Amino acid sequence: MRRPFEAVDTTALMRAHAPPPEYFETEWFLPPEAIEQRQLARLRERAAQAYRVPFFRRRWDAAGFHPEGIRSLEDLWRAPAYTVEDLRKSIEANPPLGDYQGASLANADREPLRIFMSGATTGAPRPTLYTQWDREVGAILTARALYLQGIRPGDVVVNAWAYSTHNGAFNFDEALHKWLSCVVITTGTGNVTSSRRQVELARDYRATAILTTGDYLLHLAAVAKEMGLDPKRDLALRALPNIGDREKLEATFGLPNYQSYGFHEVQWVALECPARAGLHVFEDAYVVQIVDPETGERVPDGQQGSLCVTEIYKTGSPQFRYNIMDLSTLYPRERCACGSWLRRIAPFAGRGDQMVKLRGVNLWPEAVGAIARDDPRLEPEWFVRAVREGNRDEMIAHVVTRAEPAEHAAIAIAAETRLKERLGLRIRVEVAKPGALDAWTEIHTAPKPKRFRDERSSGNH
Ligand SMILES: [Zn+2]
Repeated sequence: MRRPFEAVDTTALMRAHAPPPEYFETEWFLPPEAIEQRQLARLRERAAQAYRVPFFRRRWDAAGFHPEGIRSLEDLWRAPAYTVEDLRKSIEANPPLGDYQGASLANADREPLRIFMSGATTGAPRPTLYTQWDREVGAILTARALYLQGIRPGDVVVNAWAYSTHNGAFNFDEALHKWLSCVVITTGTGNVTSSRRQVELARDYRATAILTTGDYLLHLAAVAKEMGLDPKRDLALRALPNIGDREKLEATFGLPNYQSYGFHEVQWVALECPARAGLHVFEDAYVVQIVDPETGERVPDGQQGSLCVTEIYKTGSPQFRYNIMDLSTLYPRERCACGSWLRRIAPFAGRGDQMVKLRGVNLWPEAVGAIARDDPRLEPEWFVRAVREGNRDEMIAHVVTRAEPAEHAAIAIAAETRLKERLGLRIRVEVAKPGALDAWTEIHTAPKPKRFRDERSSGNH
C-alpha cells in the first residue's frame, strides 16, 4: 500500500502550486507569457490524461478532437464542452461514479482517494474521486484565498461548515491546518454546536475568522449582541471569508469582504483582490472560458456568458471544458492595480439555467415545482420564486388547486413536508386558485410557460 503522505512529493507540489505567503510574493506577479506558457504545458498534459477517461474519449472522438491537436491555448476551443446534464447521464448509465472519473476505487490502496459529492439534493448528487495530489492542490488554493482575505499563519479559526458528503468543510480544514498552520476549532453548524457556544468559542480563543455562510455569520453577530457583545470590539475577527450580503457583513464587522468563486468538481477557481476590480483566476490551476449559455458558442472577452472551466492541476478525475452554467464575464488580460496579471472574471451573476443556491444547497426550480405539486388535489400549474427575507435566501413554491379555500392550509403543509423530506430544506408553499399564477407563468401569452423568478436583489452568491 501507499499512504496518503507517501503519495505526494511535497517539494514538487509546492513548486507546481506555490502556497501562501510565497505565492503572493512570486507567482501573483508572473508576466503574461509565463502564465500562458505554463497553462499550455499543463493543458496538454491534462488533455492526454483526460483522453484515457471513457467520458472524455467518447465525446472527443465523436467531435474529432484529439489531445495532440492542442498547440496553443486557442486550441482548447476545439474540445467539446459538456454540462451537468452530461455528467448526470454518465452517472445514470454507470452508477454510482459515472464514467468521468480518472481514478478508480479498485486502486485506492496504491492511489489514496477521497470521495466527495456536489451539494445538489435533486437527482443524483455528482460524486468526484480526488487523489491525494488533487486534495493538496485544492487545499493550497483555498489557503491562498484565506490568506488574501486576511487569515495569517498560526491564527485560531472556527470552522462552522457542515461536515458531510460535500467537499467544503474538509477543504477549509485541510487548507488551514496543513498550509497555514492555523489552529482549527471544528464546531460544525448551529445544529451541532449552538450559536451561543460558537460565539463564546470565537471570543475566548480570539478566532480571526468564522468559516460559514454569510447568513449564518450575521446570525452569530445578532446572537453576540443578545449576549451583550459588540461583534466589532469583543470578537477578534480579522477576515470575512464568507459569501453573503457584502454590505451587511462589512458594516457588522468593520472588515472587508472579498468575493470568490469555485465549485465542487474543481474546487477554488478565483478570488477578488483588494483592488476589487474582478476576481483573479488561479491560472496555475485553471483555464477559464465564457460561452453562450444557450448555444455553447464562444462569447467575446468582456461580455457576460456562462463559465466554462478546465482544470489543469489534477491527477485524478478531469474536468475539461465543463460548462457550469454560472454567469460571469472574463475580462481581457490586463495588469490589475494590485500588480497581478492573472486574468479576472466578474462576480457570479446568476445561473445560466436558473439553478438556485439555497443555504448552500443547489436547487432547481423544476425539481421544487415537481415535488410541491406531487399531490392529486393539485393542478399541474406551478411557479417558484427566490426571495430575500431578513438575512436569508428563501424559496417560495406556488401551487394551484380547485379544492375549497378551507383546505388550502392543509394542502400547503403537506407540500412543505414533502419538500422537507426530499430536499432537506424548508421551502414555503402557497396555495392559490386556478388562474392566480397566470400573470407569472404567462401561460396564455408566452410560447413556453415561465416557472421561476429570482427576486433577490444581491448578486453575491
Ligand atoms: Zn488585483
